[in-house]
Amino acid sequence: MQDQLPLEGMPRRLYSCTPSRLNAWLDCRRRYRFSYLDRPQPSKGPAWAHTSVGSSVHNALAAWWREPYERRTPLTAAILVTNGWIAEGFRDAQQSAEWLGRARDLVSGYVATLDPADDPVGVERTVATRTGVIAVSGRIDRLDRRGDELVVVDYKTGRRPLTQDDARSSLALAIYAVAATRMMRTPARAVELHHLPTGEIVEWRHTEESLGRHLRRAEEIALEASTADERYREIMGPPAARTRRPSGAAGGRSGAASGKGAPTAAQGARGPSGGSQGAREDRPSVGPARVPDELDALLAPNPGPLCGWCDFRRHCPEGQAAAPDRRPWDALAE
Ligand code: SF4
Repeated sequence: MQDQLPLEGMPRRLYSCTPSRLNAWLDCRRRYRFSYLDRPQPSKGPAWAHTSVGSSVHNALAAWWREPYERRTPLTAAILVTNGWIAEGFRDAQQSAEWLGRARDLVSGYVATLDPADDPVGVERTVATRTGVIAVSGRIDRLDRRGDELVVVDYKTGRRPLTQDDARSSLALAIYAVAATRMMRTPARAVELHHLPTGEIVEWRHTEESLGRHLRRAEEIALEASTADERYREIMGPPAARTRRPSGAAGGRSGAASGKGAPTAAQGARGPSGGSQGAREDRPSVGPARVPDELDALLAPNPGPLCGWCDFRRHCPEGQAAAPDRRPWDALAE
């Protein structure tokens, strides 16, 4: 994707991002730094069981649509869940097996409500668009055509019931709608959250105006984040100039300097970032970059109850103080 666009006589570097990156900036700037700026990336905590369930379900639903029409049955869906099951993060094999059964029921029950002949326009479809400020891309779970319009569909597998506000306020869904409209030259105004545990579908219908508001909000976030990115690069230099650090030995104000949050061997390391969870590997743990006070203030932590679920809490004393440690399977419903 091109990332330079001349703007009214002044070349401006577009901020390349995903909705996840923009939301990370809003949620916690230290987590943003650990996720997108410190290289090598600090080691994440162990895989989460609820993420394994979510990824397994999403993968099976995508694979189901790639099956030939005659095989798009609830039984095929259940088989796809079994074949692609990600068993990481569970307490033990028995818990994993229990959740595999639940996921099979969830996915087969959901596809029973679908018309297998109604092929979506896209499944796990990557869409991208740009403005004068951002080049943004992301992947839509499913893109349907209904009449003359496209509908952005997002699957949800968490416990929490969804509200219309979740669909209305989602920056990601709005960006996907804008990107799909531009790429397919077909209007996409409706966004839907499909909550598999309850079978509930929560819809929001955007207007040009509401989509424009989301896009402007994305640009505002991007301007803040890109300014911080530039300052980080000015101070820290290119990634190659930064040294690999053993976990617990990171200095500066990044958190691990105090020694708190240093990972234990039992915590292990997560697999490569970016994928679902990735296989756990016996690789050396990596701590955060040593940053000066200026960068620590610019990319400050935002401790709160959700810190218990942060992949980087081992490197963050403030986050550890704000929320109790969570076991990898704690977010699963009983
Ligand atoms: S533990 Fe909390 S404060 Fe620390 S990086 Fe994670 S989200 Fe931010």
